[in-house]
Amino acid sequence: MPTRATKRGAERTALDRDCDVLICGASFAGLAIARELASSGADVMIVDRYEIGERQTSACGIPTRWLEVLELTESLAQTFPELVIHTPYTTVRYDLPWTFSTFDYRLLCSLLAAQGKFEFETAKVEGRDGNTVKTDRGEIRASLIVDALGWRRVLGSGEPIQPPDAYLSRGLEVHPHGQADDLEIWIDRKYVPAGYGWSFPAGDEVRVGVGSFDPRFHVKDTTVQLTQDLGRSPDGYQGNWIPHKIRDATQDGIFFVGDSAGHCLPLTAEGIRTALYFGIACGRELADVVAGRQSKASALARYGAFSAKHTLAFDWMLRVQRLVPQVPPRLLTPTLHATAVKRFVDWSFGHYLNIAHPDYVSS
Ligand SMILES: Cc1cc2nc3c(=O)[nH]c(=O)nc-3n(C[C@H](O)[C@H](O)[C@H](O)COP(=O)(O)OP(=O)(O)OC[C@H]3O[C@@H](n4cnc5c(N)ncnc54)[C@H](O)[C@@H]3O)c2cc1C
Repeated sequence: MPTRATKRGAERTALDRDCDVLICGASFAGLAIARELASSGADVMIVDRYEIGERQTSACGIPTRWLEVLELTESLAQTFPELVIHTPYTTVRYDLPWTFSTFDYRLLCSLLAAQGKFEFETAKVEGRDGNTVKTDRGEIRASLIVDALGWRRVLGSGEPIQPPDAYLSRGLEVHPHGQADDLEIWIDRKYVPAGYGWSFPAGDEVRVGVGSFDPRFHVKDTTVQLTQDLGRSPDGYQGNWIPHKIRDATQDGIFFVGDSAGHCLPLTAEGIRTALYFGIACGRELADVVAGRQSKASALARYGAFSAKHTLAFDWMLRVQRLVPQVPPRLLTPTLHATAVKRFVDWSFGHYLNIAHPDYVSS
């Protein structure tokens, strides 16, 4: 269990201040933005309800190259050249054109935070009135405000959409102690009618979980079932909603990045590299505003257009997400074997990586 480091009691002094850039949310998206602003000279402030890295928000799997280009390999736990997919009738091994790795969340966040230059406060963001963000510790004002708070899109205008009406999937995992060699996925209605189960080994723990594309399907029992089927005990629960539809990345003068903009990829629920990718894109636009090279209006337009440019790819992934559960399980067997041919794997996974390619970091 993580030790609670969040400020409590007398430490929670009132907040009442101004800054140039206010980043709400100190996970992948928020910290990537701060990294891009490090040499901008901006007075950057980040708020999160928890201390940086205190609450793991995912199974922490990412294309290894993303850890390399961001100089975060110290946090790497385990690397996988293959993806193993199980159905009730077959097991298929995809020989990937690039490797996938798991990492330590707390360490990655601290390494990424060290690349930024900002002031940090733990506070719960409750809402916004114009350029004033309201928290449970007081108000912070900034002309440039980013919502990197995850699926709730707390700083959006209008009534927040709650599950199950929103475009959200449901994910839950456990972290039993133990070791394994393979990155594994289960497409099996025994665990979830529409979605998949996973086992992501990470050194001396294995992250086992179930994700349902249908938010009405509760995944707790089947997460326990999958864990027990793997001969492990369901320790250390962690779950959340996962957005599976891209949304406007700007609204009312606010920048939305990562899950708050629906930047998590449908079908795979891979949202870390996309949060980093769109975070870098947003950070670059903000840095240009701080340097006087463009106006805030221009930054909003450019970042909004950059995000929107990816809508086609996200919509395609959503179509496949809707299609896969409709394929009869027996038909999945020939389909998976056909798609495991090396040339097809290289082509499809190459396109998949291109949606948020690591080369963008140095572009
Ligand atoms: C069980 C599960 C497993 C997953 N596994 C993977 C995986 O292996 N690989 C992958 O790429 N993606 C995975 N995802 C998806 C991934 O976790 C998200 O897409 C990713 O975390 C999005 O990053 P983010 O920075 O936008 O938001 P988040 O990581 O959700 O961060 C939001 C931050 O905002 C803070 N916050 C929220 N509300 C408030 C508030 N009101 N006030 C102050 N602070 C607040 C939170 O404390 C948090 O630090 C998984 C998701 C789930 C649920």
